[in-house]
Amino acid sequence: MKQICPEELCTGCLACLNSCAHGAITLREDVVGFRYPSIDQTKCVDCKLCEKVCPALHVPERRFPKIGYAVQVKDNVELKQCASGGASTALARLILSHQGIVYGCSGEDIRQVKHIRVGHISQLNSIQGSKYVQSEIGFIYRSVKEDLQNQKKVLFIGTPCQVAGLKNYLRKEYDHLFTADLVCHGVPSQKLLNENIDDYQSKGLKLDERTIRFRQKKSDACQTQSARIEYGWFYQNQPYSARLKQVKYTRDPYMFGFIQGLFFRPSCYKCSYAYASRISDFTLSDYWGLGKDSGFVLGRGVSSVLLNTEKALQLFEELKASVSYEQREVQESVVGNGQLQRPSMKHPQYYKFREIYPSLGLRKAVDLCLRKDRWKIGLKKVLFRIQQIMKL
Ligand SMILES: Cc1cc2nc3c(=O)[nH]c(=O)nc-3n(C[C@H](O)[C@H](O)[C@H](O)COP(=O)(O)OP(=O)(O)OC[C@H]3O[C@@H](n4cnc5c(N)ncnc54)[C@H](O)[C@@H]3O)c2cc1C
Repeated sequence: MKQICPEELCTGCLACLNSCAHGAITLREDVVGFRYPSIDQTKCVDCKLCEKVCPALHVPERRFPKIGYAVQVKDNVELKQCASGGASTALARLILSHQGIVYGCSGEDIRQVKHIRVGHISQLNSIQGSKYVQSEIGFIYRSVKEDLQNQKKVLFIGTPCQVAGLKNYLRKEYDHLFTADLVCHGVPSQKLLNENIDDYQSKGLKLDERTIRFRQKKSDACQTQSARIEYGWFYQNQPYSARLKQVKYTRDPYMFGFIQGLFFRPSCYKCSYAYASRISDFTLSDYWGLGKDSGFVLGRGVSSVLLNTEKALQLFEELKASVSYEQREVQESVVGNGQLQRPSMKHPQYYKFREIYPSLGLRKAVDLCLRKDRWKIGLKKVLFRIQQIMKL
């Protein structure tokens, strides 16, 4: 089997799979569950289209953002369901109100997180919230192209490598296509997430998979808890909402490994998009580093929205009616967010994890690899408490 690009650069965007009309692209999984395409030479006609559309070989054009905004949706119920300030949801609503189509990542089946087509506002909640796992693209770019050819307005939201995959697959600019990339520090595989869920279930806990959230806002006025994973269990047949359990991230092998950068896809550590110059119309992220002069209540979640193209500037004018917003310096977002400056660093135990995981499984392998990290985090907490007591 012939590879299309070097494995350590392959983001799994699947532009190659979508473009091959001969079904000559096959996918194989590595030890931690990331899928890589290769060419089945018995079916290949040597047109080289898979190489032409590969973003690892041809990175799309990047532009420095023109303007930055801090954004928050006005509806408090909606805000609570969104990952940060709900800018993605607001954009999606706007496109749908124009009878357009939105493509985003659905976690409805948490064991199969994937990109879906949303044609109606009633489906919008299935793409809200961040799912900290690589979203499966499948053949969704083909569906985007069909909508564009039918003159539908389309918004595609995803990680920058997925937007790059779409752009290269299309190989043509469309005035009625809007793209929004998330600032991203890396994705783990679905295989690891599923193993984590299995692990809870094997301990006899009745885990309701529909309740798994990677972030939560306890109340309208509470901090975004980015470093926690939330699981819901049924206890004595009570509805899950009555008994939601939170697992602190250092106690959850999947979340701990994710936050510490232990097992991202290899390409994430060499990400071509983790810089201030971007490939999409919009760049969306948490507004880390938002100045104290801002009028926003920080703890509720505020989105940083970077407008990178003329198209984005125009659409944002329409968006203003449905969100609270403040114009901010682009540099403020860049300085506050490491992922707008450089890719994530490989954890020192990255290779060890890949070596021991197949025989030990997720929980044991993470325990072994992140023992020191847990200890250091605990120590920092104690020192912080002591400092606070001394100040009193
Ligand atoms: C794996 C991952 C890592 C991230 N890392 C960072 C980071 O380091 N720093 C930072 O500032 N922000 C990061 N983000 C972005 C952040 O978590 C929010 O998604 C972003 O701020 C948008 O918030 P929102 O309130 O506008 O989203 P919402 O209105 O809640 O909508 C969420 C949007 O995210 C999309 N989405 C959710 N999960 C995925 C996924 N797995 N793949 C592709 N698209 C997805 C959905 O399609 C939806 O459109 C990350 C997101 C993901 C998925």
